[in-house]
Amino acid sequence: MTALLGPAEIRGLAAELDIRPTKKLGQNFVHDPNTVRRIVDLSKVSDTDHVLEIGPGLGSLTLGLLGSGARVTAIEIDPVLATRLPVTIAERAPEARFTVRTQDALKLAAADLPDPPTHLVANLPYNVAVPVVLHLLAELPSLAHGLVMVQTEVADRMAAGPGSRIYGVPSVKIAWYGTARKVAPVPRAVFWPVPNVDSALVSFERAAEPAADRGEVFAVVDAAFAQRRKTLRAALSSWAGSGERAEAILRAAGIDPRTRGEQLEVRDFVRIAEGRALPPS
Ligand code: SAM
Repeated sequence: MTALLGPAEIRGLAAELDIRPTKKLGQNFVHDPNTVRRIVDLSKVSDTDHVLEIGPGLGSLTLGLLGSGARVTAIEIDPVLATRLPVTIAERAPEARFTVRTQDALKLAAADLPDPPTHLVANLPYNVAVPVVLHLLAELPSLAHGLVMVQTEVADRMAAGPGSRIYGVPSVKIAWYGTARKVAPVPRAVFWPVPNVDSALVSFERAAEPAADRGEVFAVVDAAFAQRRKTLRAALSSWAGSGERAEAILRAAGIDPRTRGEQLEVRDFVRIAEGRALPPS
């Protein structure tokens, strides 16, 4: 059994490193071994899996993941944390298969990881959670499964479906890659320092991407939600070139120009994007 980090160990490591966790980097460390065990259980990783962990911090979740026998590649932006981490792992899980890179996850490229990871499991920094997930899904097609901890409101948005008030750009873009589900709430008390929001775990399963140009489709999604109170005809007029052209593209796609972006599914956005290439009738 790998010894996990409790409150005394987290505070001890922070004192040893003389760190002051920063809000800017979303540095809230899990100091509750039961939460770590729960995340590892829900992630279903095992010794045949290669896990990518973003933001390992002091190593709370990393040790849990390594305890499952999985191989872990961790990406940590903070050099002080990234330098201490291999020492913590060597002390508590000397047999573990573990690598850490000091890097901004938003700049991670497929070429940085010659051995592609299959699972993303992370307690993500709050302010960049959605951009990180979208960047990794685009950059690393090998990532087939995910379990990430994010702020509750972000979890709701990631997993929302069409027609809901919170359905928006993150919901559609994540749905492009597969299915996201909110699986469990996590109270703020499991973190040190205690954040002023609660968290939730979101699972992800990749599916086949639509056979369309992702950049073109995402441009429609961005335009449709930039002015979410407007009808699609109005919201898409500069993207299409004019209101008339937007209306023609929407009608050709079988979509009422008076509807709003929050009512459309990924495949509707695909039909709209493809419509721009059609000659004006
Ligand atoms: N996994 C640890 C845990 O559960 O205790 C720490 C999680 S803490 C919420 C987020 C971590 O992400 C911090 O260690 C922070 O330094 C790191 N981080 C923040 N922005 C990052 C980025 N752009 N790329 C990689 N790591 C980042």
